[in-house]
Amino acid sequence: MSDSPRPATVVIYSGGMDSYTVLHRALREGREVHALSFDYGQRHARELEVAREVCRELGVPHQVVDITAIHGLIDASALTDSSQELPDADYAEANLKATVVPNRNMILLSLAIAKAVNIGADRVDYGAHGGDHVLYPDCRPEFVEAMNDVAGIANFEPVTLHAPYLRAGKDEILAEGLAMGLDYAMTWTCYRGEALACGRCGSCRERLSAFAANGAVDPLAYDTIGDEASSQRPDAAASSQRPDAAAEGTNDV
Ligand SMILES: [Zn+2]
Repeated sequence: MSDSPRPATVVIYSGGMDSYTVLHRALREGREVHALSFDYGQRHARELEVAREVCRELGVPHQVVDITAIHGLIDASALTDSSQELPDADYAEANLKATVVPNRNMILLSLAIAKAVNIGADRVDYGAHGGDHVLYPDCRPEFVEAMNDVAGIANFEPVTLHAPYLRAGKDEILAEGLAMGLDYAMTWTCYRGEALACGRCGSCRERLSAFAANGAVDPLAYDTIGDEASSQRPDAAASSQRPDAAAEGTNDV
């Protein structure tokens, strides 16, 4: 049985920090990883470009599925409708509800489960995490558990949903990734699709605060940086007490 194939998994991989960490985690488990990204009419394709580059470097097969045909069903969200203003502020619930794409995870998981069955993978990995629970009902444990039950009976080949960070915060995900030696310059978080991350949108701010909580400097280049992330500024880093942080503080990609 030594030539039996490695167990395979489909990783839903957006190009962001969480799924980047999940992808590497699956690789370190020795699994055969198939990355799956979705083009669902995001306002920009930057995160998909990053995802492609990472998979090319890792030698991981990567499929980008164009699901823009359903755009008309989900375009009430600020993430997919460029006519809506993106909220700049913190993750205040009222603001950020504008970034919820209706039923997104159920759609994406359903397609990922289909791919898993199609290629004989017994698992779908994705990066739902604790910090998303308030805003995104389809990142809650009860949703993931219910979808896992469905994935076990929807086909004759049962598929398990694996969300290793379901109860973890962004800080903890980052801590694990940093311990694995991952390079987060190879991730994209910003909701805006400019050449540089904006440093102001809720997603950038959450990312920066995760780096701050880990006492680490985000290797990504930023356009402007919010107050809470002032230690990210190269000038601030240079005057910080941590010389190692200053050395890494030249945000350069
Ligand atoms: Zn941003």
